[in-house]
Amino acid sequence: MHFRSNKDQLFTNDSPREACGVIGVYVPEMEVSKTVFFGLFALQHRGQESAGIAVSNGENIRIHSKMGLVSQVFREDDLEYLKGFLGIGHTRYSTMGGSKISNAQPLIVDGIRGNLAVAHNGNVINADILREEITKEWGVTFERSSDTEVIAELYANTPGKDWFDVSSTIMRRLSGAYSLVIMNKNELIAVRDPLGIRPLCLGKLKNGWIVASETVALDNIGAEFIRELENGETVVINENGIKSEIWSGRRNSHAMCIFEHVYFARPDSIIDGKLTYQTRLKMGSELWKESPISADFVTGVPDSSTPHAVGLARESGIPYLETLIKNRYVGRTFIQPDQTVRDTDVKMKFNVLKSVVKNKKFIVVDDSIVRSTTIKRVVSLLRDAGASEVHVRVAAPPIKSTCHFGVDMATLNELIAYNMTNDQIKTKIGADSLSYLSLEGLLKSVEGSENTYCRGCFTGEYPIPVQLEMDKFSFEKNE
Ligand code: SF4
Repeated sequence: MHFRSNKDQLFTNDSPREACGVIGVYVPEMEVSKTVFFGLFALQHRGQESAGIAVSNGENIRIHSKMGLVSQVFREDDLEYLKGFLGIGHTRYSTMGGSKISNAQPLIVDGIRGNLAVAHNGNVINADILREEITKEWGVTFERSSDTEVIAELYANTPGKDWFDVSSTIMRRLSGAYSLVIMNKNELIAVRDPLGIRPLCLGKLKNGWIVASETVALDNIGAEFIRELENGETVVINENGIKSEIWSGRRNSHAMCIFEHVYFARPDSIIDGKLTYQTRLKMGSELWKESPISADFVTGVPDSSTPHAVGLARESGIPYLETLIKNRYVGRTFIQPDQTVRDTDVKMKFNVLKSVVKNKKFIVVDDSIVRSTTIKRVVSLLRDAGASEVHVRVAAPPIKSTCHFGVDMATLNELIAYNMTNDQIKTKIGADSLSYLSLEGLLKSVEGSENTYCRGCFTGEYPIPVQLEMDKFSFEKNE
């Protein structure tokens, strides 16, 4: 099992946290709960607070969700209970609404077209306004504090002649990031928002279909990757087959989160038609071209920065060397994502290869720096082990703004690059030199142009207007 949070397991929580992973599976005349489970297992890196699966047998929808990792939430008999040919799954990290079981997904709501189960990756930025409007329009009583409930109620109650009609009405109202898997008793519906901020892909199983946040979920269950969903696309899968429509009001070029390439997606996933591992190699290569420096070895912050470090090593001709070995048999601490717990420091679970580090000059590559806690520790570990020079290279530009589209970056004041100059950061982390990849270098690595990616956390310019300090617990206060 792969965890996104390799760095997080080792250090204090100093990485941006992805919101969620979603999956939907439709295979007539087959029990799908285990297929959903193993797909979800591959998406664990996208959220580790809670997991859930809803399954329909055509007559009723059953659901099982709990706080914890996918492997902790489901036992064999839970999957036995989830009987049916159609299912959706979700693994969650909270970006709006607290970390608690009532906000675990999938959510089930009742509306004009019966029961619906909904799983969501992203963040809706006008959820508070819509919540009030919906309460007045349909007399809905909200029971949870997440923006997903707003989406669920919209899909459950918006009139329309078919799902495409419903979806186009909803896309006019919702603002923000939403990759969705939705099911009623007989149909699977997948939706990617008109900006295409979060990923969503379609795969084919022998007798059915799968939609998932990332292609690794398809690989895990032996499905064939067909394509990524377009921005503004709605896909409906039912007994008549598969149909898709793209909302005419969508943005012509998508505004996908560029951080999916930098860090969030698994390196073995295909994002935007490219293998993420290869994109990360290019980031390392561009990083070297922009800021070369003499060194004996290149090393990476394990494990998420390894591809970027390998890319830099290849371009520079300086050998890559593992210097930090983690204990692979220590389970992940279940970390609640609030500051109280962040401050209670997670013990380091790995060791430095002292004899290979002593008296050597290093380039240390990190994929990104949020608060700087992690990189500061790495530099200090290498220095303590006798490194003669430690030069830090970061495979993304400085993070100077918060995210509003489903990623918990930290608050503005916690962002080290918001508060300090490069020189100040270099001194704070104890490095001999510090350079970041430029935005141009990043765009070159992902083969994108200025208007095909959201890069708001680097520039403060977002694809749609945002309210600058959003509170993920804003709905909690009204409860
Ligand atoms: S602000 Fe940053 S993390 Fe958020 S969607 Fe945009 S690029 Fe991704």
